[in-house]
Amino acid sequence: MTVRVRFPPSPTGNLHVGGVRTALFNWLFVRKHGGVFVLRIEDTDKDRSNPEHNATILESLRWLGLNWDEGPYFQSESLKRHKEEVMSLLDRGLAYRDFSSAEELASERTRTKVNGPDRRAARRRAELVSVKEGEAKAQDGESHAIRFRVPEGQTIWKDMVHGEMKFENADIDDLVILRSDGSPTYNFAVASDDANQGITHVIRGDDHLSNTAKQILIYNSMEWMEPVFAHVPMILGPDGKRLSKRHGATAIQAYRDEGFLPSAMINFLALLGWNPGDDIEFMDLDTLIDRFSMDRVLKKSSIFDLKKLGWLSGQHFNSTPAKELAELLSPKLEAAGLITQDALKMREDWYLGLIDLLKTRARRISDLVELSEPFFSNDIEFDESAVLKHWLKDPEKSLMILSFLRSVFTEVDWDDTELESKIRAYAVQKQWKLGEVIHPLRVAITGREASPGIFDVLIFLGRDCVLDRLGNALDHLEKKTAETLG
Ligand code: GLU
Repeated sequence: MTVRVRFPPSPTGNLHVGGVRTALFNWLFVRKHGGVFVLRIEDTDKDRSNPEHNATILESLRWLGLNWDEGPYFQSESLKRHKEEVMSLLDRGLAYRDFSSAEELASERTRTKVNGPDRRAARRRAELVSVKEGEAKAQDGESHAIRFRVPEGQTIWKDMVHGEMKFENADIDDLVILRSDGSPTYNFAVASDDANQGITHVIRGDDHLSNTAKQILIYNSMEWMEPVFAHVPMILGPDGKRLSKRHGATAIQAYRDEGFLPSAMINFLALLGWNPGDDIEFMDLDTLIDRFSMDRVLKKSSIFDLKKLGWLSGQHFNSTPAKELAELLSPKLEAAGLITQDALKMREDWYLGLIDLLKTRARRISDLVELSEPFFSNDIEFDESAVLKHWLKDPEKSLMILSFLRSVFTEVDWDDTELESKIRAYAVQKQWKLGEVIHPLRVAITGREASPGIFDVLIFLGRDCVLDRLGNALDHLEKKTAETLG
């Protein structure tokens, strides 16, 4: 049997990170089993569905690398078949016409509020009209819905995550399956499409558990093959409430726009509701496919923790080749007005070296833009607070250090161990901590308080560039000192 799964988003909004997590579990499962991933767009809500949302959904899936093997199918294309199927249930007495008026439905809602639900109220009202009369009313165009006649008994299935699930049919409403406007409801359309598309495994959020009971009843009545169901846990915000905009961005594109890598998003989302069984959390896509299994999907909900995303993202930056990062970074650098993409192409080795130098400190592409800023010109901007903290507390000493370094750097072998041992010896001789030399040097070379390891930065920039920068720094420091004294 070929495993066939589906991802059926409704194009009524952006693709939610929770939806992506569900798509991902389907995708990992099907890739592991060499099956088929079907994409179906559930666009039957005409008022809320729109083509832009549809395009964003496809684009987001592509960005994440969650490729599909079939589709996208559009649910709206199957409306005629849905209707015919509902009619076949009606013919066999497994569904009935409900001519309830708006007033009747409203007063039923009020009664439900007071006395709790009366699941068979609609059926009893319908039974007041004979099937023949009903046919005649329908022929005359009288508005009505079609309801499914829930049979007696229990509905039981073996869920891949929850184990045996059991619903008393007495607790299930005679659900509307065809609205008065002729459109099928979600539970009917989804069961019909899953059956007609040969879906073998339905993996979706556990907010659908009670829908599954209804859909199984529909499967049975239509004599369709019932798929295996797996209900994956909800994703909550750090406060334990269902993840929503209050907790930050919920649309997957927001994370792309913020500069997270797709591999980091995938890794992060895979761990929401799936326990790999050991402490290894950093995984690429191939490892995830290899290790993912439904029996390690948890029942309990998981927390969307942005700190963890940041940490994982750092790991992914670190392990992504500079060349791949370059493709994402170049347009951003150009957009930030730092350097043109053409200029970067002419200095490719230098550029890739720069990315390797910086990527260990980045979690988002925007961090790389920020971190790389001091490297495009020797005419760097000095950060005021770094200057105050590391130079101007003792301007004399800072001048001495930078002048000393300039003379050492002119003749030392340009090698990181050499550079380091010279600087260490100087600190020892002066009875200073190493930081007392390193910090003013870092400000001189990068203009900032933080940077990658200073010896790596020196080697990357090269002697000429470093001397040039030290010269500028000394000028700047002299000017600042004069200002402070003046
Ligand atoms: N279109 C439905 C949704 O987005 C599909 C639910 C399902 O997987 O059955 O919630």
